[in-house]
Amino acid sequence: MALVYGYIFIIGAVIGSFLNVVIYRLPNEQSVIKPRSYCPFCETTLTWKQLIPVLSYIWQRGKCASCQAQISIRYPLIEVFTGIIFIIIFMITGFSWLTIIYWVLAACFIAIFIIDIEHMIIPDEINLFIFIIGIGTSLLGLTIPIIQALIGSLLGGGILWFLAVASRGGMGGGDIKFAFAIGLFTGWQQMMLLLFIASLIGCVYGLYQIVRYGYQKGKPIPFGPFLVIAAMLVLLWGNTFISYYFSLF
Ligand SMILES: [Zn+2]
Repeated sequence: MALVYGYIFIIGAVIGSFLNVVIYRLPNEQSVIKPRSYCPFCETTLTWKQLIPVLSYIWQRGKCASCQAQISIRYPLIEVFTGIIFIIIFMITGFSWLTIIYWVLAACFIAIFIIDIEHMIIPDEINLFIFIIGIGTSLLGLTIPIIQALIGSLLGGGILWFLAVASRGGMGGGDIKFAFAIGLFTGWQQMMLLLFIASLIGCVYGLYQIVRYGYQKGKPIPFGPFLVIAAMLVLLWGNTFISYYFSLF
């Protein structure tokens, strides 16, 4: 079993390496496929050895092999983190289609998390990708039935859209589209739980900011990171939580 976990970690780290490219290029409207990975400082194309996740960072001591520019620790951290998340997902879902689907979603979540913090946007490309996978996997019978999927989508997207209108732009368009997309995987019950958890994390974070820096009026806080954390928690443990909750009555 240790060997299986090892392989899964490698798959995750390789995907994490691709996520680094997505996170860097997508907000700049660059292709995520071409050209091949290059150093952002000297623009030298990386060799296959320099593309090996985590290890290349270690043996180059965190520097570009050509221009010696410092490479951010963020790159190997995202690779390691993706590997760990992939293992956690596998531990819960085992050998099933759901594992692959959740790996794909987790990868999207990680990209959204970083991009939203850095650029205050959730790229349409990622939301559309999640939406298409959601419709496709539901129709193939791999996730929840399509009616439940559409109800979850309309409910989540509808609530955030309503909040956006009511708060006059306090909620971003990317957040609304994300809720429409991820609702296809959650259905309505898990969607309610997702929005509740995301708001809860948002409140805790907001309070922390106020205690630490004082109240700053109109300072925007990206909501996407809270949404993706909540989505991952709900997809992995939501049903356990919901059935426990209803067993109390
Ligand atoms: Zn360089």
